[in-house]
Amino acid sequence: MAYLQNWDNKIHYSDIEDAKIAADVELLNKDVALLADDTAVFTAHLDADNLPEWDAEIAIKLAEVFAKIDLISPRIHNLSVYVQSVATIDSGNVAAKKLISVTQNIGAAIGQAFAPVMVFLTRVSDGFIDELYKTEFIEPFKFKIDYGRKYKDQLLSVEQENLLTAMAQNGLQTWGNLYNELSASLTAEVNGQTYGLAKIYNMQSDTDRSIREQAWRGTQQAWSGRAETAAAIVNSINGWRIEERKKRSVITEYHYLDEAVRDSHVSRKTLDAMMSVTYKRRDIGHRALAGIQKHLKLDQLKPWDLSAPAPVSKAATYTYDEAIDLIAKCFSAFNPEMGAFVVMMAEKGWIDAEPTDTRRTGAYCTGFSEPREPRVFMTFEGTMTNVTTLAHELGHAWHNWVMRDMHDSQTQYPMTLAETASIFAENLVRDYLFSHAKDDDARLLIGWNDAEMATAMLNNIPARFDFERELVEARQTGFVPEPQLVELMQSAWGKWYGDSLSEYDPYFWATKLHFSISGMGFYNYPYLFGYLFSLGVYQQKDELGNRFNDLYTGLLRDTGSMTAEQVVMKHLQKDIEGEAFWDNSLDMVEAAINQFEALDSK
Ligand SMILES: [Zn+2]
Repeated sequence: MAYLQNWDNKIHYSDIEDAKIAADVELLNKDVALLADDTAVFTAHLDADNLPEWDAEIAIKLAEVFAKIDLISPRIHNLSVYVQSVATIDSGNVAAKKLISVTQNIGAAIGQAFAPVMVFLTRVSDGFIDELYKTEFIEPFKFKIDYGRKYKDQLLSVEQENLLTAMAQNGLQTWGNLYNELSASLTAEVNGQTYGLAKIYNMQSDTDRSIREQAWRGTQQAWSGRAETAAAIVNSINGWRIEERKKRSVITEYHYLDEAVRDSHVSRKTLDAMMSVTYKRRDIGHRALAGIQKHLKLDQLKPWDLSAPAPVSKAATYTYDEAIDLIAKCFSAFNPEMGAFVVMMAEKGWIDAEPTDTRRTGAYCTGFSEPREPRVFMTFEGTMTNVTTLAHELGHAWHNWVMRDMHDSQTQYPMTLAETASIFAENLVRDYLFSHAKDDDARLLIGWNDAEMATAMLNNIPARFDFERELVEARQTGFVPEPQLVELMQSAWGKWYGDSLSEYDPYFWATKLHFSISGMGFYNYPYLFGYLFSLGVYQQKDELGNRFNDLYTGLLRDTGSMTAEQVVMKHLQKDIEGEAFWDNSLDMVEAAINQFEALDSK
């Protein structure tokens, strides 16, 4: 049958001109003002530095505030998702662009209005919290409150916090914006033609090696020509963070890695265990690279070969309907409900995948709050990579779907845990495709994917992590100039790639956006975590058989209300702060690389 390939979001608004949008904006603005009125009393308590104990009056006040939040949150969320979805499909839509900033402003206003309450609940006595936790309305917020209280010592006064947020807009964030503007304006040449860096980036996975090399060298040149600016950006962002952490370290030291693991809901011990096991077994990535080198028939492997496509003569293609049916079949073999869910997504118009000229690039999963419905975006052109991307996003959608009866605040999981469901879903499809592959090319395509993933995760991501650690350490004593940044990057690549590559990527600190994101540091290890963690969970599928299905759903449902350590201990009785869990996941990566090595080369 023919599935829908475009979103149907009419249950929310007829289109971007719908008068209901303006009406909703007005209503939201009114409600946010009322919320701010309600929370003023908490600001007053904090300002007076005189926090009350639990009593009936404050109980009523808190109940009111949380009831308002429950009312406002889904509405702003629905509106934001709607306008974003329009802008995704029609990237030049001016009305949608304007509305995005309107919804962002409302979101920021809600955050500011609600902030005093969260600060208040972080500061009050344990006795207060004990009483609060006896009320029903607070149940969905317990994890957030507990987690915030763990970092109580690092919290500044409301006034200082607000000052920092305000200053960051034209300080910290500007450096990130500058990077984005620069990267959008830089150009490079390939075969005598000038292109923007985004186009050039795609050429780094061209089948023609000379195009890949030109694209890589062009990117290096473009950025090394702006190295002073790029160095100023990473120095300023890290300088800001160091200063801010100093301010937050008055009571206890706030280490940069404490800050790095905080939003990921993992402990430093977990991070250490994962990184140290990965370092011991980084050779799995080197073996993947050696296999790639063999298939490409190269004497030496260079940085521009890292995204080379598999050398196959003819790759299988899929229609969109075939892809949906295939994914549904693979998911059903694991859990029939999960397969039926995919068909439902496609029948109801919850996936937008049709290639059009006006759409954005990339793929993502999002969802409305009321009713709780996921949406998937991608551009489907029939390749096997498209099929796995679609499976990946549908895995995220399934994660949202199994949480659809839960309170919004319990469904917000960190990046580390988000990728469990998606990579798990990818694996269901890849295992099927590999075991049903009709020829060597089909098997090589899967093996290639495994190999590139393995070296990206076991060599590249850790090199980024180590570089950033060294950068922060060096920045603590002063400005880190370009030559030192180059040196730090070379040594990080040396540590993780060894001689599996014959040259490294000295300007990676400039060419890679991730080091210049103002909103968060160490935007690297969560990828490795998601990858290894998901494999660890996937392995239990065969070990636990029938029991696994419910266990997996239970695990996914807890990702927004527990730390990663707690989730795994509860559902798998494993300790991710120890090395064994990670070793086990790496055994699976090794098995995939063994399989890749056994593939014949032509
Ligand atoms: Zn994902």
